[in-house]
Amino acid sequence: MRFDVLTLFPESVNQFLNESILGRAREKGIITVNTINIRDFSADKHRKVDDYPYGGGAGMVMTPQPIYDAWKSVADNSGTRPRTIYMSPQGRVLNQEIAQRLSKEEHLILLCGHYEGVDERILEEIVDEEISIGDYVLTGGELPAMVLIDCVSRLIEGVLSSEESFMNESHYSGLLEYPHYTRPPEFHGRTVPDILTSGHHVNIEKWRYLRMLERTREKRPDLYTRYEQENKEKILRAYGLLDKRKRKKREKTHVSQEGTPGIPDVSENP
Ligand code: SAH
Repeated sequence: MRFDVLTLFPESVNQFLNESILGRAREKGIITVNTINIRDFSADKHRKVDDYPYGGGAGMVMTPQPIYDAWKSVADNSGTRPRTIYMSPQGRVLNQEIAQRLSKEEHLILLCGHYEGVDERILEEIVDEEISIGDYVLTGGELPAMVLIDCVSRLIEGVLSSEESFMNESHYSGLLEYPHYTRPPEFHGRTVPDILTSGHHVNIEKWRYLRMLERTREKRPDLYTRYEQENKEKILRAYGLLDKRKRKKREKTHVSQEGTPGIPDVSENP
């Protein structure tokens, strides 16, 4: 997959993306990240890239010409019209679903704004989508672009090794991931749950799934509610309640798990 980042600060983007997992993926050629310095495309003799806003007001606005020419230099070199994303606090907030959708693209162009942002006409002309990384305002789009490249890249086959698979990870299945432990077996008097050293893989899987349910319900009740709606049977089975429930239903007995400690309320008619 190829990313082209249009920015006034190519160094900061490059430096980050050469480290660790993404650095390795770049070396292997699984992802390609080019940084394009918007300033290099300024037609102004002083290489200016911003100007005062029409109508007055605080701050500077990035002018359209250098951005357009930088974008065109990339788009002209690409076989297709690459999807162009403006990193913006006004965009849709990035989540795992969006990351998954974008990971299927072959080529993305990311535009990073600075100062007060960019001239509106450039958005109309080249931008397909605006993406935000959260409801707060940063000084530039470079960190957001790095966040997007990071979370999209790790979904591309070959970027993570099989041991680092994202399948179980938080947000992938709609749940948060189970807790992790590594050596030593005891740290400041805290031990590792026995089950993890038992070698019994089926039980470990079950234990992990229950922890995923528990911690999602505790930390992100909003996510849990959504997951619960689509996975009632699976949850009941994990808690060993499915058969019991079916038996009771047959006996036309009202079943309610409400108030049972540690067991989520998955009653069909809450
Ligand atoms: N005046 C603008 C904010 C400009 S912030 C407004 O009120 O909407 C400067 C640049 O930082 C933006 O052009 C954008 O590229 C980037 N940026 C700031 N916050 C961001 C966020 N939460 N997500 C993505 N990009 C952001």
